[in-house]
Amino acid sequence: MQAVVAIHDVNPVYEDRIKRLRDMLVGFGVKKYTYCVVPFFHGVEKLRLDKNPSFVSFLKKEKKDIALHGYTHLKVNHFSEEEFFRMSYQAAAKRIKDGLSIFRKVKIKPSGFVAPVWVASQGTVLAAEGAGFNYATWGNKIFSFKRQREAITNVVIRGNVLTIPSTVMSLIEIAKGDTLQLAFHPTDSILKVELLEELLTLIESKGYKLTDYNSFALSK
Ligand SMILES: [Zn+2]
Repeated sequence: MQAVVAIHDVNPVYEDRIKRLRDMLVGFGVKKYTYCVVPFFHGVEKLRLDKNPSFVSFLKKEKKDIALHGYTHLKVNHFSEEEFFRMSYQAAAKRIKDGLSIFRKVKIKPSGFVAPVWVASQGTVLAAEGAGFNYATWGNKIFSFKRQREAITNVVIRGNVLTIPSTVMSLIEIAKGDTLQLAFHPTDSILKVELLEELLTLIESKGYKLTDYNSFALSK
């Protein structure tokens, strides 16, 4: 059984929090995790990746898996975060292309697509495949385009549940048999390190191997 670890909503405005999460993971010996990067966070010009060279060099130095996590991560007309909700193939393909063109400017090639809030229309999934990614993650699926194989996740453990140990125990119990996704968000950077340590120790003791999306998608 594998547990895919990711830091979500990675963009320059959360640099300090992301580095703290990174330090916690590295501190516990976690070697593989994915940075889910938003290249044009909330459509704010000064947060575009190409306008933040020091943040870009931080990401490059990390040498970790990088996923495209939406273009702006914002569905402007609904004031929500589900950017690819109900989106047509054409509109999704355009947003993915625009996101990738920002990445190209800073010479980073994302390996896959992680839908904001795990919400993506069918058109978005087709557009992600057309963009040449190794994988896409949405709903309860991690789909490997390379291997034409899907893995099902029935539980995503988010950092904010760690404050309730009994919930974590039952979530891990329910997850058993399926692939687990562990999602840390910038707000989780205030978590007590002991809680994270307990979670990771518990997950590994249940036989899960920690990995990133790309390694998972390419594994045999
Ligand atoms: Zn997100």
